[in-house]
Amino acid sequence: MVRFVYAPDLTTDRRNIIRQALIHWEANTNVRFYNATGEPTVDPTYGFAYPYIEFVNSTVNSSHVGRIGGRQVINLAFFQPTSAAIHEIGHAIGLRHEQSRYDRDNSININLANVVDSLEHNFNKYTSNYYAVGSIDYNSVMMYDSDAFAINPAIPVMTKKLDGSTWTGGDILSDSDRRWANSIYRPYVARSDTYAELAPVVYKSDNTVMTASERLAYQAYLNNGNSTPPNCCRLPNDF
Ligand SMILES: [Zn+2]
Repeated sequence: MVRFVYAPDLTTDRRNIIRQALIHWEANTNVRFYNATGEPTVDPTYGFAYPYIEFVNSTVNSSHVGRIGGRQVINLAFFQPTSAAIHEIGHAIGLRHEQSRYDRDNSININLANVVDSLEHNFNKYTSNYYAVGSIDYNSVMMYDSDAFAINPAIPVMTKKLDGSTWTGGDILSDSDRRWANSIYRPYVARSDTYAELAPVVYKSDNTVMTASERLAYQAYLNNGNSTPPNCCRLPNDF
């Protein structure tokens, strides 16, 4: 469950885009978000700071990669496509750029001579602490377009080693984006008690959906053998 809040001054256009992006993530993956706007940021009983995302107005789009503890912001510029919000949320839940994969050099050429020096970090390669599924995915919502950050947009920054061709990165979650998230997250229902209730649709790591009996068995496994949630304690959770 990923806790988030909307900044108090977040514009309506941004909020609508973020809402669409959250719904897209939930419909296609096991990732679940909890709207904690207006709620305490510190646990009232134990005093620890909740980890949460705050969506804020900005002139750029950016996010930390993964959970950092306490408040972390997702910046969203004015008038962005929903794909931009899907992408930044992807960072917050742990995804790096697809072109940063440890094995990307097997598949793509990167022409850093055509990238502004201060932006070259966008093409860093991460060889540790990086979980990737399958092979490089040109349709990933985390994949840049071939001409991203190009000084001369007529010359691609990235090309496929296979045939020199170019691509446009994905606008929605790809199959491998979904496999990545479905391998890591469980679709919990927001509750005030400690019962780990699963949403009706639980994806397996290959993006197929658990059968009803598989889901119940999994829910029992998560709750010391008890497959039945207490008939209480569900929290309202609207985006
Ligand atoms: Zn990014």
